[in-house]
Amino acid sequence: MLRRAGPSLRHFLLQRNISAGHSSCSREAKMSRPVQARRLEGIDKNIWVEFVKLATTYSKVNLGQGFPDFPAPEFLREALLRALSGGSPMLHQYTRAFGHPPLVKVLAQFFEKLLGRELDPMTNVMVTVGAYQALFCCFQALVDEGDEVIIIEPFFDCYEPMVKMAGGTPVFVPLRPNPPKDGKLMSSADWQLDPAELASKFNERTKAIVLNSPNNPLGKVFSRGELGLIAELCVKHDVLCISDEVYEWLVYDGKQHIRIASLQGMWERTVIIGSAGKTFSATGWKVGWVVGPDRLLQHLRTVHQNSVYHCATIAQEAVAQGFQRELTLYGKPESYFVQLPKELQQKRDWLVQSLDGVGMKPIIPEGTYFLVADISPFKSDVPDVPNSDEPYDSRFAKWMVKNKGLAAIPLSAFYSEAHKNNYTNFIRFCFAKEEATLKAASDILQKWKQEKTSS
Ligand code: PMP
Ligand code: GLN
Repeated sequence: MLRRAGPSLRHFLLQRNISAGHSSCSREAKMSRPVQARRLEGIDKNIWVEFVKLATTYSKVNLGQGFPDFPAPEFLREALLRALSGGSPMLHQYTRAFGHPPLVKVLAQFFEKLLGRELDPMTNVMVTVGAYQALFCCFQALVDEGDEVIIIEPFFDCYEPMVKMAGGTPVFVPLRPNPPKDGKLMSSADWQLDPAELASKFNERTKAIVLNSPNNPLGKVFSRGELGLIAELCVKHDVLCISDEVYEWLVYDGKQHIRIASLQGMWERTVIIGSAGKTFSATGWKVGWVVGPDRLLQHLRTVHQNSVYHCATIAQEAVAQGFQRELTLYGKPESYFVQLPKELQQKRDWLVQSLDGVGMKPIIPEGTYFLVADISPFKSDVPDVPNSDEPYDSRFAKWMVKNKGLAAIPLSAFYSEAHKNNYTNFIRFCFAKEEATLKAASDILQKWKQEKTSS
């Protein structure tokens, strides 16, 4: 019955429109009021959408968007297979809104170890759709119209639009480079906050500061002293800390990742954000989490229950098993959290050498799987366009992917609109790649350099 009623209803409506002189065009023309919510103004462009498309179209070697091209660990893939085929049929259904119980329980156990405090899995942990949704929940739940949020530049790009969508005002404070005088390569540790400048950004409107250590894109791992300075200002001005720690396990040269929440007076005002995507080299799974005091997390739960509600059960189950394994192997050489940074450090060193070899001076990252390099010696191939609104590094990265087949991300993408022209001689490479991929990137750069010297 319904199937027969459908066409006749459509036919009736069509006839009515035609006899009333309506076409679909004239109906569109009547839509004169703005359709876009004001909160979206100025945030429609996205570096990942743009550069993923360029990489898909042109790249032979993709060191742009941050994801490993090697497989996620076998124990994690096996856990997913077990959950899929051998597990309870309920793993295909909804689970608890704020996190699948096995996952929040093991995350609480794990973070109890890391933070040295007791945690309630039901109130101190929430599972999100990747770290992106964790960040979104933080800003929506904690930032009001008129609030200021301090963001340290360069920063993971989504912080700025997310603060704006919440009605807040981003206030930027830069990491400033102090190049070593002895001619050595710069390290991400040479990029530092000016304490007086940082302090000057805090005022009575400041609601939160976003901290990202290890930092994307520089790979900077904030020292205890730097974290202490931030913590002191947070306590003094009663400011919250949104601490994006998605690269917490990717730290090199024996450096230690220090959690700001473990500093005096910080637990009660900090939300820690993590990502299984980075932790287990499975960015497509989109499992993330927040850890923090109930007084903050209760508001994040309100955002979560009224938007996403919950994340894929089966992926949460597999991540829970992954963490269970890591809990048993904690600190042991077989632990993935010990092995992965070891492997990545070798890849980092390899790429550092190869970039240095062609004169694209790298800034040695202390953490993450990103590396920023100076493109100056290659600039003569990509002409500058005077008075262009597009930063030079962005044009350079586009030219490089189109003409050399090598994808990277311009550093200016990690700066606010007002500061996007501050450093335009740098591009970011991702080195979480198979040896063959890194070698192919190096071949492209070497060939390019040879062409330059012989021309
Ligand atoms: N924070 C930082 C610093 C990131 O680099 C990323 C990108 N992976 C995210 C958050 C988002 O993580 P996820 O993929 O888990 O949403
Ligand atoms: N976090 C990843 C990076 O920095 C990519 C994020 C994305 O693709 N949206 O490269």
